[in-house]
Amino acid sequence: MRILFLGAPGVGKGTHAERVGEALGIPHISTGEMFRRHVGSRTSLGLRVEEILSRGDLVPDVLTVEMMLERLRDPDTVDGYILDGFPRNLAQVHALDGAIGDYALDAVVVLEASDEVLTERILARGRTDDTGASVSNRLEVYERETAPLIHVYRERGLVLSVDGVGEIEAITAKILTALAAL
Ligand code: AMP
Repeated sequence: MRILFLGAPGVGKGTHAERVGEALGIPHISTGEMFRRHVGSRTSLGLRVEEILSRGDLVPDVLTVEMMLERLRDPDTVDGYILDGFPRNLAQVHALDGAIGDYALDAVVVLEASDEVLTERILARGRTDDTGASVSNRLEVYERETAPLIHVYRERGLVLSVDGVGEIEAITAKILTALAAL
């Protein structure tokens, strides 16, 4: 299965994407994690994106798309994958469509939570880009650039909306049940 996880920063996207990937035996591909790894190992890409990540802005599409399409050519993706954090804007949707086809995704899991819950969770998490200014910028960027993708994928009949508030195990179980029913 090819599954995309969408949801605001702090909604638990990464956690559930990883758990669902493990349960289904397919790789969890997180662009945010890939970028953080580049920053940590001080690669040339890492040095270019470090500032951008700490501000909470989006990395330019050329860099993101190239990194992602290269990852999708790895042999472990043949039986499917979980996409977490990509695509994040319309240009990236088109790039993904061009690479795998407009109807290649099986489902888009949309996790939902209120803004208060999101801010609280992000500030509790303590990642290096989890400072006040970056957090509010990331929430804004999400609303402006990424939230419109829900509409695009709903039109394609792919959206499964799941409440992201509650016990981690219960939420993952709900997602797996919804996917199993497809
Ligand atoms: P995440 O771990 O998904 O919250 O992503 C962390 C940061 O990585 C974001 O705030 C962006 O700066 C960058 N990033 C991750 N995915 C993308 C993407 N698809 N396009 C542009 N920037 C991204």
